[in-house]
Amino acid sequence: MAEAERYDLAVIGAGPGGYVAAIRAAQLGMRVLCVDREAALGGTCLRIGCIPSKALLDSSELFWQARTRLASHGVGVGEVSLDLPMMMRRKEQVVQGLTTGVAGLFKKNRITRRTGSARLVTPDRVAIEGPDAGTVHAPRILIATGSGPATLPGFELDGTRIVSSEEALSFDALPARLLVIGAGAVGLELGSVWARLGSEVRVVEIADRIVPGMDDELARALHRALERQGLSFRLSAAARKAVVKGAAVDVTIETDGTAVTEAFDRVLVAVGRRPFTAGLGLDTLGVALGPGGHIRVDERFETSVPGIHAVGDVIGGPMLAHKAEEEGIACVERIAGQAGHVNYEAIPNVVYTWPELAAVGRTEQECRAQGLEVTAGTALFAANGRARAMGERDGLVKVVADGRSDRILGLHILGPHASELIAEAGLAIEFGASAEDIARTSHAHPTLAEAVREAALAVAKRSIHS
Ligand code: FAD
Repeated sequence: MAEAERYDLAVIGAGPGGYVAAIRAAQLGMRVLCVDREAALGGTCLRIGCIPSKALLDSSELFWQARTRLASHGVGVGEVSLDLPMMMRRKEQVVQGLTTGVAGLFKKNRITRRTGSARLVTPDRVAIEGPDAGTVHAPRILIATGSGPATLPGFELDGTRIVSSEEALSFDALPARLLVIGAGAVGLELGSVWARLGSEVRVVEIADRIVPGMDDELARALHRALERQGLSFRLSAAARKAVVKGAAVDVTIETDGTAVTEAFDRVLVAVGRRPFTAGLGLDTLGVALGPGGHIRVDERFETSVPGIHAVGDVIGGPMLAHKAEEEGIACVERIAGQAGHVNYEAIPNVVYTWPELAAVGRTEQECRAQGLEVTAGTALFAANGRARAMGERDGLVKVVADGRSDRILGLHILGPHASELIAEAGLAIEFGASAEDIARTSHAHPTLAEAVREAALAVAKRSIHS
């Protein structure tokens, strides 16, 4: 690469935060460079996160349906078998199609792309090491370096027996016994994949419930549904250490002061993620970090060093791809003098299990703890015609509204395709809608979305179907 190329904006990291910011900045007329140490664009999300996990969730769901559900629809398929290498190849093709698509978008938007590890040398100069080594100048730099898996004392990741989500997305054989440490979204999604395919899956969680942060009632219902699918849970339990013994791993789990050691084939450590800032040269430039190691930014996503900005997993907050995208867009719009902003109250959160758990806004418990007067309305999918036609009875919708103004503060869905249904709730919160607004909106019949309306009706105690 030619020495000291000049750009208006240099973006470090081509994940959803970085690549979306790069495209928006190019639309706004900036000359943009985006550098990533990986040759494939799209970051954690496209390469080893959201997309491959959903590809495997969809494949394993079909396998599960074929084995357990199709007969009840009168569909016979003979003996159902698993071709794991084929399933993995399909997942790779999905990933490749999308990462190539981002490369196409970069081309279309005339974004210069470099492969290599970036380090900030001065507030307006970035050194790149690797295939496209060199230095670039830009008065604005955007750090979107994302996050990496958090570790757990006593569990040294070896990539084979004790693994992070990255390896658990690519096991070459079905683990007979899989231990998942952490009952958050990543642990439950990957635990579900392997349980559906036939592994015996045990989930250990230090909290006394699964999916901490989500609505209590819906989390309990999801817990029961997952148990019915064969996953087993140890709550209020601490995974203390793992010792690899040949092909097995002995794991010590402590519950109520009693430690028990059990053998597993593989252990997935899914205890969260840490912002990735190593090697960026931030300490030399004086870029301030928060207590969790994330980069501190102001409302314009600018760090403590003027001209250096940051978005996505690396700045903390919910570690979600769409949150990173929103921040990337808002950040470059602010740089361009526009009024970009992110409404964190309207960022949905989804756990792609079956049924799916999706939420936006605050939980009922959170509102009450904040001293807010709230009214909650619920509707069961068991009373929804479309859900019954699909053979789905599990789950419910809960609308949490301000007791005085009726404004929706939170909307929570456990049910089939909750990840799609939650979009209506995000729009409602973004527009400051009341429960009455949803209740008065005609929803097509028969659809799963009618359960959202029914829950909104229940806020005013006037549900029709329960
Ligand atoms: P990233 O996507 O992590 O991208 C950062 C990029 O920066 C990487 O490509 C990295 O190579 C590059 N980089 C880092 N340091 C340097 C450097 N010094 N020089 C050059 N390049 C560098 N979120 C959802 O919203 N929905 C989901 O369904 C979902 N599923 C997930 C499933 C799994 C298994 C995992 C692990 C995560 C999942 N996430 C999901 C989270 C989501 O992937 C992240 O929130 C998102 O990728 C964050 O985007 P980002 O742009 O901040 O960082």
